[in-house]
Amino acid sequence: MQKTLLSGVKPTGRPHIGNYFGAMKQFVDLQHDYKTYVMIADYHALISTHNKEQLHQDLLDLMIDYLAIGLDPEKCVIFKQSDVSEHTELAWIFNCLTTMPYLMRAHAYKDAEAKGKEVNVGLFGYPVLMGADILLYDVDTVPIGIDNKQHLEIARELARKFNTTFTEVFKEPTEAIVPEVATVPGIDGQKMSKSYNNTIPLFASDEEIKKQVMAIVTDSGSDIPKNVYAIHALIKPKEELDALYEANKGKYKVLKDALIDDLIAFIAPLREKRKAWENRIDDVKEILRKGGEEAKKTASEKMKKVREAIGVTL
Ligand code: ADP
Repeated sequence: MQKTLLSGVKPTGRPHIGNYFGAMKQFVDLQHDYKTYVMIADYHALISTHNKEQLHQDLLDLMIDYLAIGLDPEKCVIFKQSDVSEHTELAWIFNCLTTMPYLMRAHAYKDAEAKGKEVNVGLFGYPVLMGADILLYDVDTVPIGIDNKQHLEIARELARKFNTTFTEVFKEPTEAIVPEVATVPGIDGQKMSKSYNNTIPLFASDEEIKKQVMAIVTDSGSDIPKNVYAIHALIKPKEELDALYEANKGKYKVLKDALIDDLIAFIAPLREKRKAWENRIDDVKEILRKGGEEAKKTASEKMKKVREAIGVTL
């Protein structure tokens, strides 16, 4: 039987090559072999975004990004979370099976607390909603970056908790993490992240690419600038890469220029594809609407079983 995959990205700002290599590329590669659901996690974005125009723009942009990187609406279901109310409904039921101390161990919550950020209930319960996202679709595999590993453990725990408390309804999913790109580093060597200002945007202009590559932190004294090499390794085969760095030991400018050329060669065609979809915004919205309908069909079937299992069906 064909296996099922689900993953998603939050529509908060522009995706970067860390999101792409860590997760999004896997959606594209695997869509041929798996029943694939790709979600725009707009209710997750609401945890941090309360600007109507911004959220609306970001979610349309992300949909265009998905199509531009090669997600094929004939092969996979692309939908936004807010079109399938079963996600938040199931999250409520899971909330009632989850304890506060258990969720207090979640990294995202602990980080926010440690930084003295205001923690809304949405942020606190984020892993529960993510569990609902996944478990609704009997998912086998969830392609993610390593920063999301704990969320998959929580999803499995939610499935077990429900299945043992009521009856067997949920399948336990596994994460798909590609080791080489589990954590793509940013231009400062830390994890590439929208919140660290250290990204190379996936659809960057040539100017942005140049500016960001020139800003890559290099540790003077070493032959190979490791932050430059790490980003270069994403787009250049290892043999060619090692030969280039061997031939240009210590020549940071030459190596950065080579990285700029390679990034432009990689990103420019993606930008072109994106532009073509931007000009078909009505089609883009229609694909998203249809995806929502299809996802809802599967999710509502599952929710019927959940409601029966907990005893609210007449
Ligand atoms: P999330 O809150 O799910 O992490 P994001 O939109 O920030 O949402 O990330 C989308 C995907 O990209 C996730 O699967 C995440 O693990 C992955 N990701 C983000 N940053 C990186 C990185 N620097 N390296 C590898 N994967 C990453």
